[in-house]
Amino acid sequence: MIQSISILGSTGSIGRQTVAVAEHLGLTVRAITTNRNVRLAEEQARRLHPALVAVTDAAAAKELRVALADTDIAVESGERALCEAAVISGAQAVVTAVSGAVGLRPTLEAIEKGRRIALANKETLVCAGEIVMRSAQQYGAEIVPVDSEHSAIFQCLTGRAGELKKILLTGSGGPFRGWTRAQTASVTPEQAVKHPNWSMGAKISVDSATMMNKGLEFIEAMHLFGVTPDEIEVLIHPESVVHSMVELVDGTVIAQLGVPDMTLPIQYALTYPARTESRGDRLDFTQLTNGLHFYAPDLDALPCLALAMRCARAGGAAPSVMNAANEVAVGLFLSHKIGYHMIYDSVAAAVEALGAGPAPDLDTILAADRAAREFVTAYFHL
Ligand code: NDP
Ligand code: MG
Repeated sequence: MIQSISILGSTGSIGRQTVAVAEHLGLTVRAITTNRNVRLAEEQARRLHPALVAVTDAAAAKELRVALADTDIAVESGERALCEAAVISGAQAVVTAVSGAVGLRPTLEAIEKGRRIALANKETLVCAGEIVMRSAQQYGAEIVPVDSEHSAIFQCLTGRAGELKKILLTGSGGPFRGWTRAQTASVTPEQAVKHPNWSMGAKISVDSATMMNKGLEFIEAMHLFGVTPDEIEVLIHPESVVHSMVELVDGTVIAQLGVPDMTLPIQYALTYPARTESRGDRLDFTQLTNGLHFYAPDLDALPCLALAMRCARAGGAAPSVMNAANEVAVGLFLSHKIGYHMIYDSVAAAVEALGAGPAPDLDTILAADRAAREFVTAYFHL
């Protein structure tokens, strides 16, 4: 049983819920990290007494060092500090809850130490899935997904090696499900971050609205479960009750159901293979009076999902280019610099321009990631 963890991105949506799970399970938290949320990092540090707080932003780190001067908690800054938090001594598992490809290096370093990775940071697998999975195999590090769909698939598949026929990856369809292209043209960041069923960080909320999130999850599932694109079917399921399903070779379908509450998959990633009591709400089937619905996504109306599925099939540099371009485009949309449809336009243009190359090693992947970021910035003349 995992007794001690490190939390990368502890001030974010998944990070805060991980802190709650850690407190519920009585785990020791050895390190926490933030980009620049000094106030919350201080509060968490005083509650959890980690050995290290890693703060990426240098000015924020300075401020936090002053705030925690009366404690023996170390405060380190810069991107290197994120890696130090990932490999800190005494932690058996690392919850990767940072947003974006910045999670890649620390995840790889933790894998090399043989730590369990409770993986929320899907961008890591989209960007360098083959390398991450190969490395986990080599160092005997378990990767247990936190993403609710992948946790569901993982739970459905546990003990069923060799029996899988197809993954049924569900998604709610986001806040603009059923809207036309004309209707979404004037969508604002404020509208895009309001998800009907889940409360999440800003970037993933926008990804959920564009359905790029389901595209990233499609690629994430390929790597986590070693399947081809043809072995994954995406289903729109507006109620978010069935978190995903697997079809087995004999036609049996196994699903994992629950209330939409991320503390559940977070807790399971830390207690696996055991289960323990959780504090969350329970599913009440008698309240599901409108039923559960499933239908195929309209790929013409969801260009980001279609693009991600094309990148999944293309492989090589395409997924990392798409992922990096999307991170920049979503950031620009969130700061009101570009319109909603420009997210897809710029990401597709980046994939078209840079996505055809191979990605044999980490350096090539990181170079493709950088080039895609520069491409999108130049695309908007910024
Ligand atoms: P948030 O934006 O809420 O939190 C992100 C965390 O990462 C914060 O602690 C943030 O610090 C930190 N961070 C952001 N950028 C950097 C950076 N450049 N360097 C160092 N730290 C950084 O994201 P979420 O919690 O919503 O998502 C985290 C990950 O989990 C994502 O990969 C997402 O796709 C995945 N995920 C999230 C789900 C959810 O329900 N939220 C569900 C399934 C997966 P600061 O507070 O200073 O900004
Ligand atoms: Mg998900």
